[in-house]
Amino acid sequence: MVAEVIVDIAASETDRIFDYLCDENVVVGSRVRAPFGGKTVPGFVMKIKETSDYPMEKLKRVLPYHDELPALNLECLSLAEKLAARYRVPKALTLRLFLPAEMRTGKVRELLRNYAELTVPIAEMKLVKSAKNQIGAAEYLEQNGKTDCAYLNGIYPGGVAALEKKGYVRITKEQILRDPYKTVTAEKVERVLTPDQDRAVKTIETDGRTVQLLHGVTGSGKTEIYLTLIAKCLTQGKSSIFLVPEISLTPQMLSQLRVRFGKNAAILHSGLSAGERFDEWWRLRTGEAKIAIGARSAIFAPLENLGVIIVDEEHDSSYSSESAPRYNTFDVALLRAKRNGCKLVLGSATPSVETYKRAKEGEFSLIRLEKRINKRPLPEIHIADMRREVRRGNNSNFSGALKEEIEKCLSADKQAILFLNRRGYSQTVICKECGYVAKCEACDVSLTYHKEEKCLKCHYCGMKYNMLSACPDCGGVKLTYAGTGTQRVVADLQKLYPTARILRMDNDTTSGKEGHYKILKAFGEHKADILVGTQMIAKGHDFPAVTLVGILDADMSLHFSDYRSGERTFQLLTQVAGRSGRAEEKGKVVLQTFDPENEVLRFATSYDYEGFYENEISLRAAMAFPPYSKIVRILVSGEDNKKALDALKDVYFALKVLYENNAEKFLFFDKMHAPIKRIQNKHRYQVLMRLSDSSILPEIYNACAEARTRDVLVSVEENPTNLS
Ligand code: ADP
Ligand code: ZN
Repeated sequence: MVAEVIVDIAASETDRIFDYLCDENVVVGSRVRAPFGGKTVPGFVMKIKETSDYPMEKLKRVLPYHDELPALNLECLSLAEKLAARYRVPKALTLRLFLPAEMRTGKVRELLRNYAELTVPIAEMKLVKSAKNQIGAAEYLEQNGKTDCAYLNGIYPGGVAALEKKGYVRITKEQILRDPYKTVTAEKVERVLTPDQDRAVKTIETDGRTVQLLHGVTGSGKTEIYLTLIAKCLTQGKSSIFLVPEISLTPQMLSQLRVRFGKNAAILHSGLSAGERFDEWWRLRTGEAKIAIGARSAIFAPLENLGVIIVDEEHDSSYSSESAPRYNTFDVALLRAKRNGCKLVLGSATPSVETYKRAKEGEFSLIRLEKRINKRPLPEIHIADMRREVRRGNNSNFSGALKEEIEKCLSADKQAILFLNRRGYSQTVICKECGYVAKCEACDVSLTYHKEEKCLKCHYCGMKYNMLSACPDCGGVKLTYAGTGTQRVVADLQKLYPTARILRMDNDTTSGKEGHYKILKAFGEHKADILVGTQMIAKGHDFPAVTLVGILDADMSLHFSDYRSGERTFQLLTQVAGRSGRAEEKGKVVLQTFDPENEVLRFATSYDYEGFYENEISLRAAMAFPPYSKIVRILVSGEDNKKALDALKDVYFALKVLYENNAEKFLFFDKMHAPIKRIQNKHRYQVLMRLSDSSILPEIYNACAEARTRDVLVSVEENPTNLS
């Protein structure tokens, strides 16, 4: 038999499919070891055939791995091929989406793990006080019994090894799949669906259309509907995929899912180690787990016989991938739903304008949930006019109204969330004498001052710089900060309310394993009074003690030069406001703005999605912006400026021919520098297009595929969410 094999898929950018001889028992989708250039590299079998176009005697032989099951099932293989065709990228690239890293690199899966257990009670150990990691590990083991060493090493580096040396710990190898949620516990809550929820479930099950849009205000019980659908699938032996923005996988959500579905659910999130992710993936592949829950990439879960696919917060920008291949989660979900003949449920309080249009026009089914559970009112939104505050001499970040509400909230022992668009202490460092702005050497963007670390950071590449003592251009020492960030707000708040316990949540505080889970957990347990954060805090959380939400700079996102800025602002404000008053207590929202007459803000404060939509869609129609057109950006980036420019020219001239022959399909066509000229030392250029007719898209993809070289990345973005 002959196998068509894709080799070395971790490193190659091109489709390297080769013919190999193979044994009878090698099947499509399985992993093999392929002799290649003097080495043995991992590969995947794409096809089995009787003969090859190459001379049979010249073919080398692949060796199988003895996996219980082929790594890729037929649905995944076929999807990978479809996506490669859709986005004109090598199959090797789309195949990667379906496999956990460990399998790609060919490492045989780790069945054996080291487990540690105490051989001596702590009381009998001789440990010095300073041996914190040993003490920590020993205490953990005493409380929890036998534990995975890798886990302990993550928390108490070196602790277990040192204990073993002293003979206090025994290490054994075990074959158990580790359970990442062992410590998760919660009460099982039995719920009866409200009539609205029940109606929604029935519609989703019986409506003939594939895509079901669930448009329900925040707190209307959408999650319960999803869980009911999943549970029903489970009883029919069907599997489900449940996608949420990563941040929505809060500790509360994790424990709910765990209690409800036990081992039937595999929960994939960034807090898991590579090994844990692999185990969860494998449980899905074998069918031991039938529910895949996770962020965007869980859409590639190796499940069969899908009964439902759910995309919560469907408007969220995290659903479009920003690295190659730049797939759109909705496209993939729709392919899978159609193939399995199952429903694709999109849920949101603020659906994207594009989705809502399709639902209103009848392409998708539209289900509305207009009331919060138990008819709890939506919080009242008070607009604070910051122009007036400034006129009154208040230059601080907090309006009089907000301060008053914070005080009320604190004295009633309730919690407040303050939301701000920017992280860091303040935005930029500017020289008052010559106007110099501190910028990153590799990225051509301004740096942000971080007070705790006393340094300047680039938010694009993470590079740190020492704080400047004088201007590098003119030597002036009058350096000033422009803008306000989360750190600054925390510092100011602490001055105003010295006894308040304040937590900060942004990209800087959530790095590392479980970063945001820890912060949210602490806040959920009321270990802090105020949570200050960026848009991370906007999503999904359900904190009953929160009665106040302050939006410090409602205008920020309105001023992005992006056709979606109005939509984003509306979504963000609605989401943030939805965090307030979720339990018995009525919630309050203070929205601070320099532009109180702004239409988007007005619609947001009256929770008028329909009004917002009508206004927005007519603007889009008038301006010929999506969904009335498609914006396509070709991004060309490379370290070598000349090579990048050459690739840009190649793709530009190929596209120009297309443009000239199809001028009626284009509303705009030009090439230029990308707004950020350099990121991580890569020079960036773009060809920007607006299409009135997307039928030309495959040809655009083709032109880009041809301009791609080893050193230059050429990617196509459709209606990009981030035009930097
Ligand atoms: P959404 O996802 O629409 O924002 P949630 O699913 O978070 O709303 O529900 C809001 C609150 O109502 C949650 O605290 C949830 O536990 C509760 N809830 C949902 N459905 C029911 C029900 N049928 N009976 C009682 N409480 C419910
Ligand atoms: Zn940088």
